[in-house]
Amino acid sequence: MNGLMMNQPLLISSLIRHADTCHHDTEIVSRLTEGGLHRCTYGDAHRRSRQLVRALLRLGVAAGDRVGTLAWNNYRHFEIYYAVSGMGAICHTVNPRLFAEQIAYIVNHAGDRVVFFDLTFVKLVETVRPLCPAVEHWVVLTDRAHLPAGAAPLLCYEDLVTAESDDYEWPEFSEETAAALCYTSGTTGNPKGVLYSHRSTVLHAYAINLPDSMGLSARDTALPVVPMFHVNAWGLPYAAPMVGAKMVLPGPGLDGASLCELYAAERVTISAGVPTIWLNTLAHLREKNIRLPSPHRTIIGGAAASAALIHALEHEQGIEVRHSWGMTETSPAATINTFKGQHAALSAEARDQVHGKQGRIVPGVELRIVDDAGRELPRDGAAFGDLEVRGHWICREYFKEEGAGVLRPGGWFPTGDVATLDADGYMRIVDRTKDIIKSGGEWISSIELENQALGHPAVAGAAVIGLPHERWSERPLLIVVKRAGHEVTGAELIEFLRSRVAKWWLPDAVEFTDAIPLTATGKISKRTLRATYAGYYTKQPGAT
Ligand code: AMP
Repeated sequence: MNGLMMNQPLLISSLIRHADTCHHDTEIVSRLTEGGLHRCTYGDAHRRSRQLVRALLRLGVAAGDRVGTLAWNNYRHFEIYYAVSGMGAICHTVNPRLFAEQIAYIVNHAGDRVVFFDLTFVKLVETVRPLCPAVEHWVVLTDRAHLPAGAAPLLCYEDLVTAESDDYEWPEFSEETAAALCYTSGTTGNPKGVLYSHRSTVLHAYAINLPDSMGLSARDTALPVVPMFHVNAWGLPYAAPMVGAKMVLPGPGLDGASLCELYAAERVTISAGVPTIWLNTLAHLREKNIRLPSPHRTIIGGAAASAALIHALEHEQGIEVRHSWGMTETSPAATINTFKGQHAALSAEARDQVHGKQGRIVPGVELRIVDDAGRELPRDGAAFGDLEVRGHWICREYFKEEGAGVLRPGGWFPTGDVATLDADGYMRIVDRTKDIIKSGGEWISSIELENQALGHPAVAGAAVIGLPHERWSERPLLIVVKRAGHEVTGAELIEFLRSRVAKWWLPDAVEFTDAIPLTATGKISKRTLRATYAGYYTKQPGAT
């Protein structure tokens, strides 16, 4: 027997409609690419996104079409999110930090018909455009006064939007309709398209608004540092209007000074971003001796947040850190770290142990770890194995690769991460499968070594890679960026690590560098480092 409740499809348009009804005057503040701050409200965004739908229809965009963006976090990008998905088309956010050839591959693979782009990317578009002949319209996200004089015809966003009326009713369709498309970073092989549905996006927004997740409310001001081109800014552009949180969109200003200015001036209570952003911001706060307004909680994910970073943010700045893990394929929130009541009684050290993990499983997601034969391993916090995931907002197939058989038996998605799970639902990432160091038949966690090295006061950045070694098959190399004004030697760092990790984990050598190479999504580019230091242990004189 079925229940007798209404069955309304979970549609993204319902979020902005609700925000307009209940949070009409709540602000969206944007740092503009043109310079200066812009203020509008959820009421404005709802009106303008409906005007934008009419403009898209006039350009010939229909349901199911892909519409690309190369844009920062700002109110125009927000309007595109809602207009494109709301009309039944697919909002395809492209990462502008990729190489032009990769961008062209992604735009062509997606079959984008229109691409919206910020002024920052005018030159990039000049390079990419000839490689993407199927794109019919390139629209600059600006007004007529700032329109660049270019050879190729460009459309002006403000002209398109303001020419239309907002007389448009959001259509109703199946909640399984595709809403947004985001490509994985493709460190191995070509990038793959993850195609989110309305249902997965709305359920994910509900889940991240839970108190033990990101926990947004109508009293919060949320600043997603994580770009709207990186897994939909972790769902915040959907979660914030759902509860009526004020949004602050930092545009291209992702440096410490620009972010701190917004944190203070707009009294931001929730932020979200990758660890490297916080490392830069923390350096700025220390240098200028600034303390950010409280309360502030921050969601850190995308790469491991070190214990040293978490500790510094909490103790120097009074910021509550919620460490989180996810992937493009998981929308991304799958685990977020908050304490349980029972942890209050623990010692500070034991609490730090819990706090350093990647977090507790978000309801709506299941995780398990398995061995090489696919057998499930115990949830005892010690056993580690391949991490698998399934749930309402987890990818089951990649776009245009349907039928390739991505999932493992039981419908589990293989994450490519190695992890532990415990009986309280907490997960700890040990490493990426391809980054874990296999030495003398044992495994060494590069993430744990980095985490420990970052605890040294003279270390600003640390990366560990495994390099081929004749005797041990692989040995770790520690690569360090020194903190400004601090000195330390390789031998001192190894000595520092000696009491913190097993003896056979100790790196055989330490190299110093000015900057650690990052991927387009802000993670340490271990592929680049492995290429830079190739043959380090095998070609050196006296190497064993
Ligand atoms: P992406 O799809 O580009 O967001 O990358 C997802 C990958 O980033 C995951 O499979 C992990 O390897 C890594 N990752 C994300 N969050 C964390 C975290 N909190 N700690 C360690 N690794 C993480």
